[in-house]
Amino acid sequence: MDIAILGAGCSGASLAYFLADAGFLGRIHLFDRRTDFSQEQRWCSWGPVPKRLSGLVSASWDRWRIVSGNAEVVCSLPERPYLHVHAPEFYERMHDRLRRHPNVRLHLGCSVESVTPTGLRGEIRRVAADFGDYDVDLVFDGRPSAENMEATRGSGEISLLQSFAGLVVESSEAAFDPDTVTLMDFGAGDSPELSFVYVLPFSAHRALVESTAFSGDGIAYDEHERRVENYLKKLGAGAYTVESRESGCIPMTTRKLPRMSDERHIMIGAAGGATRPSSGYAFVHILRQSETLAGSLMRGEHTWRRPIPRKYGLLDAVFLDALEDSPAHARESFLRMFGRVPTGALVRFLSGDSSLCDDLAVVAALDKTPFVAAAARRVKASMLGAEERR
Ligand SMILES: Cc1cc2nc3c(=O)[nH]c(=O)nc-3n(C[C@H](O)[C@H](O)[C@H](O)COP(=O)(O)OP(=O)(O)OC[C@H]3O[C@@H](n4cnc5c(N)ncnc54)[C@H](O)[C@@H]3O)c2cc1C
Repeated sequence: MDIAILGAGCSGASLAYFLADAGFLGRIHLFDRRTDFSQEQRWCSWGPVPKRLSGLVSASWDRWRIVSGNAEVVCSLPERPYLHVHAPEFYERMHDRLRRHPNVRLHLGCSVESVTPTGLRGEIRRVAADFGDYDVDLVFDGRPSAENMEATRGSGEISLLQSFAGLVVESSEAAFDPDTVTLMDFGAGDSPELSFVYVLPFSAHRALVESTAFSGDGIAYDEHERRVENYLKKLGAGAYTVESRESGCIPMTTRKLPRMSDERHIMIGAAGGATRPSSGYAFVHILRQSETLAGSLMRGEHTWRRPIPRKYGLLDAVFLDALEDSPAHARESFLRMFGRVPTGALVRFLSGDSSLCDDLAVVAALDKTPFVAAAARRVKASMLGAEERR
């Protein structure tokens, strides 16, 4: 069986890597229009990261905190630390391994234009790329699918953007607590949208300090950078040098993504619904999906599985709705969740592997009024959507 993987980003590269590592016998064509994968980016999450990739974890923290005004909640879970993977190192390791594998053809700088069924019974997929056509049995597609999202837009859907920009700085003063990640510092909470500063402390003098906002249209880069500079002043970082910059935008939406184009053309990664709508976290879901898909391909199957279990759909939609409706309530809810839910249960919930007991602990900690109102709006929106589709 020959396969094509479209996009050598996080999902495509990890799927090819797991397959190559497991001794997949067919040919693997991995395409990406990019040639340069050195752009500054990192992925953080609570893991677990598959054992084979654990060497890529370059930092980890047992403690994290949420701050809002004068209130602070500190949580700790040494058995499931918050992990940091530097994207350029990830790509270097993946692509290097894949380049040396006899079954893998790595087509970098090669854009894929279309995928069409061919063969007598349409059992072959023809991948039309910059440098020619490739006939394969299966296609895994990790290219972002903006046009598909537009096509599935329905009434009442929520669409926020998580925009962020950060600086990795080396400061003259010991401004950072190297043992504790600041997941969210809402400051005085005086901006109209939900915004906060995120700090990954690599040492007392070196950290990624990132400004993040959840809003309808995102926030300009300069405004993010201004917020980071103000935060560094507030921390008393003193003089600092900027080592690197990271920025990005992650859609947080209840809109439906296509499950797959057909049974031989399967969407993966963020394009396949691996982003958690309420948080923008995707890394751990992508790795889990790649490992599971590779396992099933090795058994001769190619069953598509939802990268994030269905039960989180409703909970995330309600959370997103409440977040859009009232940023002030959302700030309060994050504090309550981290303060009241047992840390293990909350981490499992955020990582998509929680039990029913964990889910109930999260729901019980939330302020009921805004969430019941949000749940009612979600039910109404899904009824409207069903009517529209009829
Ligand atoms: C700056 C940033 C930081 C993030 N940080 C975190 C984090 O800390 N934790 C977390 O859980 N999630 C994080 N995310 C979200 C998520 O983990 C990433 O977006 C992740 O990289 C998604 O992987 P992917 O494979 O789905 O898409 P990508 O990694 O974007 O890969 C898609 C690939 O497809 C290629 N491509 C596109 N069109 C074509 C075409 N026509 N032909 C060929 N190739 C094509 C692109 O060049 C790209 O390489 C972050 C996202 C961003 C943008």
